[in-house]
Parts: sequence; C-alpha cells; structure tokens
Amino acid sequence: MTAQIIDGKVIAAELRARVADEVARVKRDHGLTPGLAVVLVGSDPASEVYVRSKHTQTQAAGMASFEHKLPADVGQDELLALIGKLNADPAVHGILVQLPLPKGLDTERVIAAIDPAKDVDGLHPNNAGRLAGGLPALSPCTPLGCIILTKSVHPSLAGMNAIVIGRSNLVGRPLVQLLLNENATVTIAHSRSRDLPALCRQADLVYAAVGKAEMVRGDWIKPGATVIDVGITRIPTAEGKTRLVGDVAFDEAMKVAGAVTPVPGGVGQMTVACLLVNTLRAACAIKGLSAPAV
Ligand code: NAP
Repeated sequence: MTAQIIDGKVIAAELRARVADEVARVKRDHGLTPGLAVVLVGSDPASEVYVRSKHTQTQAAGMASFEHKLPADVGQDELLALIGKLNADPAVHGILVQLPLPKGLDTERVIAAIDPAKDVDGLHPNNAGRLAGGLPALSPCTPLGCIILTKSVHPSLAGMNAIVIGRSNLVGRPLVQLLLNENATVTIAHSRSRDLPALCRQADLVYAAVGKAEMVRGDWIKPGATVIDVGITRIPTAEGKTRLVGDVAFDEAMKVAGAVTPVPGGVGQMTVACLLVNTLRAACAIKGLSAPAV
C-alpha cells in the first residue's frame, strides 16, 4: 500500500488564488485594500527568508504590505511604540511580529500590545482565549493550514480520533481547539506522555508538531490514517550538505498511512497562505463587512 501525498504546494496555491479573488472583490465593491504589517527585529537569516516570502505573497494577493525592520538591540519601548502606531494606522489590518524575538525583548508583552482585531498570528491572549472558548477568533496560521490539508482528504472530521503531538501556543494547543471545533475526538500528547506509539496507533488523524526529526515511525501509525507533519528540522546529509525533514519518518509512513504531508511541500506551504486569509478576514471585520468566502 502506498499513501496519498497531500500536496501542500497545490492546496496553498489554490487558497492564495481564492484570497486574491476576494481581495479584488472587496477593493472593487468597498474600496478596501487589506494591509499587512510585518515587524522584523534583528537579522536572523531564517526569519528574513520568512518575512521576504510573506511580503511577496501579500503583494501577489493584491494586498498592501508594510515591512518594518528594527535592529536587534532595539529597546522594548521603541518596539511597543511602533506596535501602537500600527494599531492606530487605518491602512494596516494585520500586524505580525516575526518570532523569535532577540533576547532581552519580552515576547509576551509585545504580543499583548497588538490590537486583537489585527492579531493575524492569532497569538494574543484574547484570540487564544476566544478560540479555547469556541468563539470566533483569529487563529494561528499553521494550525489553520493543518485543518485545511486534513479536510482535503476528509471533508468532515466529526467523530474521528485525532492525536496532536506537541502543546505549544503556536501549533499544538490551537490545533487541538480547531479540531474540537470540527467535532474530532482529540488526544494531546507531549514530552511527558506515556507510550506515545500506542496512543498514536489509535488515531485516524496524526499531527506531529514536535521538532524532532523522524520521531514518528511507521509502526506508530494506524493503517489508513492521515498524517500531517508540522515539524521542520534541518539535518546533515552524507554529501556534506543539509536537507529538511519532518517529525515523521516519511518513507515508513507512506507504507502504512492513507495520506501523508511531505516535508518540505506540506504544512509549511500553508502557513503564509493562511496568513493572507487572516489578513483578509481581519480587514473585512474591521471595516464591518461580512466574512470573506475563503
Ligand atoms: P515547541 O514550542 O518546541 O514545542 C514542541 C512540543 O513538542 C512541546 O509541547 C514538547 O512537549 C513536545 N515534545 C518534545 N519532545 C517530545 C517527545 N519526545 N515526545 C512527545 N512530545 C515532545 O515547537 P513548535 O513551535 O510547536 O514547533 C514544532 C515543530 O513545528 C518545529 O519543528 C517547528 O520548526 C515546526 N513548525 C513548522 C511550521 C510550519 O509552517 N511548517 C510552523 C511552526 C512550527 P512539552 O510541552 O512537554 O515540552
């Protein structure tokens, strides 16, 4: 048996196209150009790549993109002052502070300073609390992408057994809430969970968000299960180069699972596409328009 590969590249491209159509519609009908401001502090090379990609894709969707680069030694007050300005700027509907922040900056205070209505990363305590309470909220982009990828295989997740491995605020916890909203039955696993392979084997849907290369083995997976691999780890190759791998042993999973996301080309592709969705949703909500059809 060979599993279906869930092609994040294709699904993300379709989503970006739908966002672009909706952006064109709100521009035409309501004179609204959604705007995303991205704040990058310091010069972490991986963060610079992410920010560049966000900028390019935001513009390609017809939205306004505002980049703010600050030096790594910027003071907390200066960063908070910039966020205050972006909160008040009517051209900005989404604010994303690229994480991780350099040492010395208080990430929690910075996130809490973002207007929850513009919190397109979905990390503000108001949005996290609303999501946990089953209320409409801006939700983190990577978990949103995981749900869309799963629904490309299973249009309804109602009653399915899901396991989420990892309980970070960025991925695991919000993913659990989104799965509950979809009426799945969810197990949350973490570094203290006992007999993780046995827990995994009960799951129709496996989400691995740990950051440990190829931790989830083929014999952890129930035959026919859908496996969504969030992990990204760069490992050295025999040729002295490096390559990206996920948290799931892909070749083993392909022999047992029903469907698997590859790394790269799976979840990673969806994160920026869902950021565009959140920016469009935030812009429509701020302008008092009904939610866009994406
Ligand atoms: P994180 O904050 O480091 O959280 C990792 C989670 O994994 C923690 O909850 C930890 O448990 C759990 N864990 C660690 N070792 C474990 C083990 N042996 N067994 C079971 N659980 C274990 O990481 P994150 O930010 O959620 O990111 C997870 C991975 O996803 C990383 O590889 C990251 O690069 C990737 N990621 C990808 C995207 C994307 O767009 N594709 C976006 C975000 C993150 P404890 O809570 O008990 O410590």
